Amino acid sequence: MAETIMKGKPVIDKLNEHLKSRAEALRARGAAPALAIVRVGDNGDDMAYERNAAKCCEAAGVEVRLMHYGEDVPQAELIGCVRKLNEDSSVHGVLILRPLPPHIDDRAVCRALVPEKDVDGITEYSMAGLYSCKKVGFAPCTAEACVDMLDHYGVEIAGKRAVVVGRSFVVGKPVAMMLLERNATVTVCHTKTKNLAALCREAEILVVAIGHGKMIGREYLSPGQVIVDIGINFDEEGKMCGDVDYEAASETALAVTPVPGGIGKVTTAVLAKHVVEACSRLAERATKS
Ligand code: NDP
Repeated sequence: MAETIMKGKPVIDKLNEHLKSRAEALRARGAAPALAIVRVGDNGDDMAYERNAAKCCEAAGVEVRLMHYGEDVPQAELIGCVRKLNEDSSVHGVLILRPLPPHIDDRAVCRALVPEKDVDGITEYSMAGLYSCKKVGFAPCTAEACVDMLDHYGVEIAGKRAVVVGRSFVVGKPVAMMLLERNATVTVCHTKTKNLAALCREAEILVVAIGHGKMIGREYLSPGQVIVDIGINFDEEGKMCGDVDYEAASETALAVTPVPGGIGKVTTAVLAKHVVEACSRLAERATKS
């Protein structure tokens, strides 16, 4: 059995405690942290994420406003909504649930959002901020959840050999950048990587975000690893599972995140953290000007 099961709940509880008092202090200064969630259509996954995000924000003392549009909303109308939210000083963060319907240019909608309110790191400004280590925008929530999880459980990152499997803009690349920034030696793997199993076995910290249920089995693992499983998949019986074979991992790992109950929950808590941070940055700017 792994020495530590890195569950998400203790990370969230600790984070919320801190966020609640920060949100309270901001409210006392007349700035109540608020998130706007923009949803197009009635996709089940989006609705579940929205519910989760709203619950998590509420627990952290962050207000939530829901903006719903029909599946056939014109692109111009959606961009108009984002621009209005940019201007609305009572909204500090905007979450646009994606993917958007095919008739809408996803990048154009993302580009309309100001980086100050980009609490899920979807704009090019946020990406540039992450890569240049400047405080512009925010990192994608899931990537930051991964680092917050390691920090919460006292995992030393500096000097460690980290392997990230997956290179998406949402997860793999930003996680790799954040681990590099924390002085890990990082290898990023993808579908064209040769000897993936051997590379994974060499990792001291193994982060997996590929979207293939239980693919990372025994032959990819070695004793004493810290394993962060970001994958969300459903097996033949419809049960949620990660990208890592949890049974195999829990036999060899020093620490491992479960799915469900691991990174997924922390992701929405990080979203709330970003809204409070955005509100605080805007309040500071208002005080200075
Ligand atoms: P993408 O499909 O965008 O990216 C998958 C990445 O994995 C790609 O870089 C791909 O490589 C790589 N990959 C796929 N198959 C293999 C393989 N057999 N061997 C090596 N590399 C492989 O997925 P996301 O990054 O968006 O999501 C990954 C997983 O994380 C999914 O299960 C998703 O549900 C989950 N997720 C969880 C979140 C959470 O809150 N917990 C949030 C976001 C995602 P290549 O670039 O070569 O195609």
